[in-house]
Amino acid sequence: MRGFEKTLGRLRPRPSTQDPSPGSLHSPPSPRGRGQNNLETFDAAIPREGRELKAWTFFRELPKRLFQVVFRVVPYPTRPRLIRIGNPGRRSPVLVTTNYDLTVRRVRRALDGVDCWLLVAPAGGVDVWCAASGGRLTIASVISILKTTRIGELVDHRRLILPQLCATGINLFELRRRTGWAGVFGPVQAEDIPEYLRTRRKPEAMMRVPFAIRERSEMAIAMWGSLTLRYTLFPWLAFGWRVAPWFALLLALICLGVSLGCFVLPGKTFVQKAGFAALPVILGLVGSLAFLGQASPFLIVKWTVLVGLAAFLAGTAFPSYSPLWACGYSKLFYGASDLKLAIVEEQCIGCKICDLVCPVECFAAGENRKMLFVNPDICVGCGACVIQCPTDAIINQVAEDHRLQTACG
Ligand code: SF4
Ligand code: SF4
Repeated sequence: MRGFEKTLGRLRPRPSTQDPSPGSLHSPPSPRGRGQNNLETFDAAIPREGRELKAWTFFRELPKRLFQVVFRVVPYPTRPRLIRIGNPGRRSPVLVTTNYDLTVRRVRRALDGVDCWLLVAPAGGVDVWCAASGGRLTIASVISILKTTRIGELVDHRRLILPQLCATGINLFELRRRTGWAGVFGPVQAEDIPEYLRTRRKPEAMMRVPFAIRERSEMAIAMWGSLTLRYTLFPWLAFGWRVAPWFALLLALICLGVSLGCFVLPGKTFVQKAGFAALPVILGLVGSLAFLGQASPFLIVKWTVLVGLAAFLAGTAFPSYSPLWACGYSKLFYGASDLKLAIVEEQCIGCKICDLVCPVECFAAGENRKMLFVNPDICVGCGACVIQCPTDAIINQVAEDHRLQTACG
């Protein structure tokens, strides 16, 4: 990380700090003593948001928590603000997160026992990954929260720790030019932040998205909630309302199957994998009908169609609910462009920023520390490397082809 910060300082000139207007973003940390009384009053006015451990608080928040787990894709904004965690001082770290209620709660829980400031930036109430790639967590969000909270008056440094997954939306050089604050990308997982703050090092494991069983189970529930809400109407209209809860149950089984088995199920596409996940469900249903003495051809076809529909829906939706595969919904609904990346060797200065922000492991250092794009097959097309590369050495060949076609045409 130190090399990364050095590169950041070397490649772009520091913003001018001559005659900054008082309270502006570029104003240097104010010397102690000047306006100290006002500052202390302002400092004391920031509430300390501790984690409430009382049982009744947990039960009071239970419906909200369940809603956020099942309907993860629905925005759930919390108030953008500055949170004082523990007893932070003027040298304490300043972290940034998005104003998604679930994310803020998890980051606060991870930071239990750490003295720091947490800036909750306005980003439409969605998680960091979606907010950054969807254009909601941007430099404008950071400028907004820096200005409205006046955090610059409370600390003696100008360093922000941003979540790594916002690298698709916030270019660090541009952030520094516009705000005077130097940003660094922290770990992918909130649970790793205390260790990162203690060591100031980011080993490989903190840079990559693990997508472990717990996350896959959470994604299965979120996918199930969203698909049930959107698609239960069709079997209801085709086969009557009694089918609806059974269809929701089928969707739950297949979402769980494809999510937990995404690495081991056979098939090239996730529709094929979901088909394999659906096989035991079909066999179980036919067996149950036979056991009940109702295995008529009509019922077998009806339930096979319903299971097939559930598998198709789960298979097409799954990549968009996972951080390890390209999000089909981004292309379908938001017009996200295709990426086919290549590195222009002569322009690469070996700063490794691309590797630091890549959520999977697409890059490796080659000769003369030049970076190589060694794993194009696992690229999720997030664009973080393209956005952060300081020398524009990473190019999108799709855009290049299109540009050439346009120029020739
Ligand atoms: S490709 Fe760009 S970001 Fe990656 S090492 Fe080279 S210059 Fe740095
Ligand atoms: S190589 Fe692919 S996955 Fe890695 S940062 Fe670049 S676009 Fe994202």
